[in-house]
Amino acid sequence: MRTFDYSRADSAANAVRTASGTGQRLYLAGGTSLLDLVKLDVMQPDQLVDINRLALKQIEPLPDGRLRVGALVSNTDLARHPWVRLHYPVLSQALLAGASTQLRNKATTAGNIMQRVRCNYFRDGVSPCNKRQPGSGCAAIGGLNRSVHAVLGTSEHCIASHPSDMCVAVAAIGARVTVQGAAGSREIDFADFHLLPGDTPWQEHALQPHELITHLTLDAPLANSRSGYLKLRDRTSYQFALASSAVVLVLDGPRITQARIALGGVGTKPWRAREAEQALVGQPATLDSFTRVAQLAMQDAHAYENNAFKIPLGQQAIIRNLRDLTA
Ligand SMILES: Cc1cc2nc3c(=O)[nH]c(=O)nc-3n(C[C@H](O)[C@H](O)[C@H](O)COP(=O)(O)OP(=O)(O)OC[C@H]3O[C@@H](n4cnc5c(N)ncnc54)[C@H](O)[C@@H]3O)c2cc1C
Repeated sequence: MRTFDYSRADSAANAVRTASGTGQRLYLAGGTSLLDLVKLDVMQPDQLVDINRLALKQIEPLPDGRLRVGALVSNTDLARHPWVRLHYPVLSQALLAGASTQLRNKATTAGNIMQRVRCNYFRDGVSPCNKRQPGSGCAAIGGLNRSVHAVLGTSEHCIASHPSDMCVAVAAIGARVTVQGAAGSREIDFADFHLLPGDTPWQEHALQPHELITHLTLDAPLANSRSGYLKLRDRTSYQFALASSAVVLVLDGPRITQARIALGGVGTKPWRAREAEQALVGQPATLDSFTRVAQLAMQDAHAYENNAFKIPLGQQAIIRNLRDLTA
């Protein structure tokens, strides 16, 4: 049995200081992802720094219309918050499409952003996996690569899809991540937070070692917008997305004047489809326009042996969501 130390932080500064010691030290939030991976021996921390007592559980509308969400706000509390349901339905729906009620009650906003991939070769602890063991290879390329593997943003070193639903909605809304390190705090644009695998798939995010996420600040909602999240999966509950879409739209009569589209299940990070968004602006809300932009969104997709179906499925996730929002 592997042992590790456990400590509880009582302030963000104290958490960062404790995490900056020797060995691998990790923050423990809801534990729904981390403790699984520790039990599987995929993550082998020397110390867990429990951050659950930090005062990071508030959801605060800001005077400029943005929404500031504490890192420890649970997925349930965020999904059910009246402001979120009213102004960011896409986020509420994405959160409620994830995991199970019990898991959402424990899972936190920062933990959701930081969750690791669900690739079976990453999680089995023994197969070649460049994320788990840099330089060992990628067993998913040429192996079973159907449900939790991407068709956008992959590299010859890793094809695992990003698993989060919440992050797809946040990508469409736009946000900034506030982090605290030993030298103070800084902000990271959410679009730059998750990294493409490229040649270094073990580098998954833009955090420096031991930086603590303290807040996520959502962009102000687009005036007169409507939004929705559509998740397509093997089972209708308790299952990761095969393909999903988060869409925010503003219409002027029959024409679309603003559009935000992000995709889940198909990309190696929460995938913002900017070219498709631009192509949609000025178009009438018709099946023809939706089909064209859906094709554009997936035009750079590269399929592997078992997941070619994700290309048309990703397109359908966009088309159906657009159709439902404009019906
Ligand atoms: C059976 C199952 C099904 C699931 N299904 C879905 C699904 O359908 N959709 C979906 O989106 N998700 C799903 N999830 C994943 C779930 O959303 C995540 O496990 C959860 O969001 C992680 O949050 P947590 O607070 O428990 O994080 P933890 O497990 O505590 O931490 C996860 C990672 O984040 C780091 N971390 C936590 N807080 C901070 C912080 N403030 N700053 C820096 N690093 C931090 C930890 O060190 C760790 O590396 C599922 C999980 C399970 C177990």
